[in-house]
Amino acid sequence: LTVLGLESSCDETAAAVLRRHGDGRVEVLSDIVLGQEAAHAPFGGVVPEIAARAHAEAIDGLARQALQASGLTLADMDGIAATSGPGLIGGVMAALMTAKGLALGAGKPLIAVNHLEGHALSPRLVEPLDFPWLLLLVSGGHTQLISVEDFGRYRRLGSTLDDAAGEAFDKSAKVMGLGFPGGPAVERAARTGDAHRFDLPEPLQRRAGCDFSFAGLKTAVREAWDSIPEPDDQDKADLAAAAQSAIASHLAKRTERAMAVFAEAFPHLEHPMPLVVAGGVAANSEVRAALKSAAERQGFRLIHPPSKWCTDNAAMIALAGAEHLARGETDGLDAPARARWPLDADAATLSPIVG
Ligand code: ATP
Ligand code: MG
Ligand code: FE
Repeated sequence: LTVLGLESSCDETAAAVLRRHGDGRVEVLSDIVLGQEAAHAPFGGVVPEIAARAHAEAIDGLARQALQASGLTLADMDGIAATSGPGLIGGVMAALMTAKGLALGAGKPLIAVNHLEGHALSPRLVEPLDFPWLLLLVSGGHTQLISVEDFGRYRRLGSTLDDAAGEAFDKSAKVMGLGFPGGPAVERAARTGDAHRFDLPEPLQRRAGCDFSFAGLKTAVREAWDSIPEPDDQDKADLAAAAQSAIASHLAKRTERAMAVFAEAFPHLEHPMPLVVAGGVAANSEVRAALKSAAERQGFRLIHPPSKWCTDNAAMIALAGAEHLARGETDGLDAPARARWPLDADAATLSPIVG
């Protein structure tokens, strides 16, 4: 099966062509991502209207480029997949409309893909990983722990109660005037900083479970910043280091709890069990290091897809689309764009975790 995948749910416009072989192995034939960072940078965050317009302008051309780069034509595709949510609705519509147009014009089936399912399956772009695995998705819009048990079987073990981890980086960067996107800027500044100078609170210390919270940290960073009379580069570095280390440690602690739950649910899984981390924040080396030690303590191995497939991309959308297509699951041309679409929407119908 060969599928064209399109993505435009946040601030990356992307198109990719992927081939799925009969044995489930996949090959990414082309993979193009167009970021919009420069367009949003003056605002210190993603502006939905700007994103929607940029997606609408770029997506047709990108789809054509991805086909060209794969050496195939639209006629060679077995299906057209597009993210249909969750995300910024104006953005989601861009790829979805284009996919509908292509599907209608070429007489190909449409597959409306959940963006989160793309992230959940992303390690399969690299290796034929067996189910189940534990996924930590940490991006600008999501912070979730998901037990990925089979195609269509996803259970959420935890998610953020307020901000996403990426937002915590972006907002901390904004407070210190470090620029956008904040994650890489905070990481750069933190290199020469002393994380111990500021004592930031640990979120949800007394709360059981695997949820996250970053709103308190954001406030604490602002208060720490406001307490410095004339901040210089060293102050920035120290506070960036403290913020990064607080975020990394919170992510690792809650993920460690989820690993324990997951291990109990699947007592016969071979060790080390897979912990996959995806999303833009997974690029952060302190976050990765903290997760790696937590994983080792719990008998897991950390799997980190390459950065290009960790952040938003269309290869993962084509992959999810191909898996649905292989199971005969396609969508009508009336498939809606959805701002919200939890991955575990059907989870209540699943048998409970035993262990
Ligand atoms: P979605 O949440 O819908 O998947 P998104 O565009 O917000 O979309 P990504 O593109 O995966 O998600 O990630 C962007 C986020 O990752 C931003 O918040 C950015 O600050 C953060 N990020 C990127 N690099 C780093 C880094 N080195 N350290 C920390 N955070 C980072
Ligand atoms: Mg992005
Ligand atoms: Fe994403």
